[in-house]
Amino acid sequence: MIIQAKDFTKDLMAGKKLVSFDADGTLVESKTKMSPTMVGLFNSLLEKYFVNVISGGKYQIFEENVLEEISSDPKLLSNLTLSPTCGTVMYINENETWKICYKDALDPDVAEEIIRAIEYAMEKIGHNPTETFGDIIENRETQITFSALGQKAPLALKEAWDPDQKIRHRMIEFMKEQLSNLDIKIGGTTSIDVTKAGINKAFGVKKLMEHYGLGVQEVLFVGDALFEGGNDKPVSDMGVLSVQVNSVTECEELIRKILN
Ligand SMILES: [Mg+2]
Repeated sequence: MIIQAKDFTKDLMAGKKLVSFDADGTLVESKTKMSPTMVGLFNSLLEKYFVNVISGGKYQIFEENVLEEISSDPKLLSNLTLSPTCGTVMYINENETWKICYKDALDPDVAEEIIRAIEYAMEKIGHNPTETFGDIIENRETQITFSALGQKAPLALKEAWDPDQKIRHRMIEFMKEQLSNLDIKIGGTTSIDVTKAGINKAFGVKKLMEHYGLGVQEVLFVGDALFEGGNDKPVSDMGVLSVQVNSVTECEELIRKILN
């Protein structure tokens, strides 16, 4: 069920033990640090509930935008979990350090197959750059990433390489000849990401519920993209009561209602 933040009432928290938040557009403005107002509310919420943050982004982004801002009280942090890359990895705080609680890594054989498929596609399109900046193929365990000129290539070079994505679409066609049951997606400016199929936020929230041993009725989810096609929608589809917020300010007001 999806409800709009303005229609939310405190009685909907009956039986809820965990509040899971989308990050961008919900807790923080896209790619910025959490605001002082949100920090205060977020810390208060950690005193009363298990809290989770889930995003398609990497752990480093959580670190910079959330962890560096919020309370460092170990008691509060023990109630927080972080689910980067849609929960294919989950972090918990133990003895004042952030630890990986589980990682849904690709099978090493599958990772090898993906790497060979990328090399095959590179050969097919004749991609053989004379100068590269860091690794072209990176095994991130839950994801294999191809970066045409290397991870650390200067932005101007990156932007000039495949501005209309045509090269990567061709590469993906060649990769699909070699691979099945995987998600192959255009990522950043020059990259292609390969992950297990069917990874979205519902996957991450299921993992979270398993971790705490909670049922769907004990979880509240908050996101800004619960509309059809939005990246938060899979969570409401699995039966979790989900609140649509249209801004970070609206999310702040929602947390005030939860706390009061
Ligand atoms: Mg969002």
